[in-house]
Amino acid sequence: MQAYADTSDVGQFINGASVAGTGSRTQSIFNPATGARARRLLLGEAADVEAAVASAQEAFPAWSDTPPIKRARVMLRFLELMNKHRDELAAIITAEHGKVFSDAQGEVSRGIDVIEFACGIPQLLKGDYTEQVSTGIDNWTTRQALGVVAGITPFNFPCMVPCWMFPVAIAAGNTFILKPSERDPSASLFMADLLKKAGLPDGVFNVVQGDKAVVDALLVHPDVKAVSFVGSTPIANYIYETGAKHGKRVQALGGAKNHMVVMPDADIEKAVDALIGAAYGSAGERCMAISVALLVGDAAEKVMPLLEERTRSLIVKNGMEPDAEMGPIVTQQALERIEGYIAEGVKEGATLVVDGRGLEVSGHEDGFFTGGTLFDNVTPDMRIYKEEIFGPVLACVRVKDFSEAVELINAHEFGNGVACFTSDGHIAREFGRRIQVGMVGINVPIPVPMAWHGFGGWKRSLFGDTHAYGEEGVRFYTKQKSIMQRWSESIEKGAEFAMPTAK
Ligand code: NAD
Repeated sequence: MQAYADTSDVGQFINGASVAGTGSRTQSIFNPATGARARRLLLGEAADVEAAVASAQEAFPAWSDTPPIKRARVMLRFLELMNKHRDELAAIITAEHGKVFSDAQGEVSRGIDVIEFACGIPQLLKGDYTEQVSTGIDNWTTRQALGVVAGITPFNFPCMVPCWMFPVAIAAGNTFILKPSERDPSASLFMADLLKKAGLPDGVFNVVQGDKAVVDALLVHPDVKAVSFVGSTPIANYIYETGAKHGKRVQALGGAKNHMVVMPDADIEKAVDALIGAAYGSAGERCMAISVALLVGDAAEKVMPLLEERTRSLIVKNGMEPDAEMGPIVTQQALERIEGYIAEGVKEGATLVVDGRGLEVSGHEDGFFTGGTLFDNVTPDMRIYKEEIFGPVLACVRVKDFSEAVELINAHEFGNGVACFTSDGHIAREFGRRIQVGMVGINVPIPVPMAWHGFGGWKRSLFGDTHAYGEEGVRFYTKQKSIMQRWSESIEKGAEFAMPTAK
């Protein structure tokens, strides 16, 4: 696959057309592997949000009135186009995010899964019906679209995370405004173009690029009925509170610190494979990355030497190279933040087993690279244990037994993903039941639920009541209506003053 090389300005997609927008502010989009400025982003402003909401509002009556099966057919054509162009989309992701190409392909596939799920919308919108709730009276429920809804997404999955939102929202009859990350915005416009080619009416899907100015305009706009957000916890908290204060339905997924427990009875080689992939895959820039290994009892003695050897031999290079295992960090600023945490870990007294800082990749000297970093003897009071680093840094904590591991995880402020590697069925069962985390893997390091199961963490990893995609996603993007009917022959004469009951 050829590297993505478009250098034109990145603007907005409003009412079915690419437009520059009204703003004058711009931001550089980098290729993190080379460190070069690749494109220029034209940041949207409140006036662009106004235009996008107006177009989405205008498109809503006809789109929500379109039979669900016809909406599903548009999704089906979009699905075909996404499958046809998946590698081009993956190359865009690698060029702006930095993750290795095979990982970008995987991200696109997981996004496609949700589109496929959304194609089943006629079945998903089916309500419940009860005949004869009282003599001559029937009662049923339907789910109807909310109106204009918005999605605000992070840099780390520029295709998959938007796909957690808009396919379900649109298939359910809503119109949508996407505010992608300003660090890797091109995937959003590529998908907008495919949606148009699939026959989606103008105004149903819009993209407004930008930063806080655009987000704030969406959060307070009276015609935006719901906001889905995925990003860091402080911003998720802000989005939830501000959106709710302005009468919106809000689903705000936040940050993480995912633990993996390795029991002494686990298959140690497989556990180490899992740790390496889950800690350093996508350079640790996944909300489901494993950033803490809890090594139980004498598992530590077996795991640490293997982990050290594997971390040292990671192949870190431009993600378009076929043998790359880990690519660069998304921006220079993020790289400095990650390396700052490593310095902090050393200062706090953790044992730095492998130091990834200062890595130079030949031919890519200006790229935003760091190697895999491995810490041992990390303790729960350290910042590198408590805070999300969001980079290729694995903190190993030695614990005496299973109960201590469970207590530590349950006490952590985040509760996104977690894993336990064991060969003991009882331990596995207890772990699944007792752990205070939203997504649990038993011998599965990154248990991202499939498209029909729904994604979401607990505690400060999610603000709101419903998880993303799956049936919870359908519920989030629709409101339930109950209808009760009877016809003239069964209507009794005279006013009733008591609470109606079944007769
Ligand atoms: P971020 O919070 O910096 O940005 C997310 C979105 O919020 C972007 O669109 C950004 O433009 C916008 N934003 C940033 N600052 C803002 C502000 N002050 N006011 C309003 N909007 C603002 O997150 P990121 O760095 O792009 O992504 C990484 C974070 O996302 C990590 O914390 C990661 O754990 C989290 N994440 C969580 C999940 C999940 O499902 N829980 C999934 C992916 C990423």
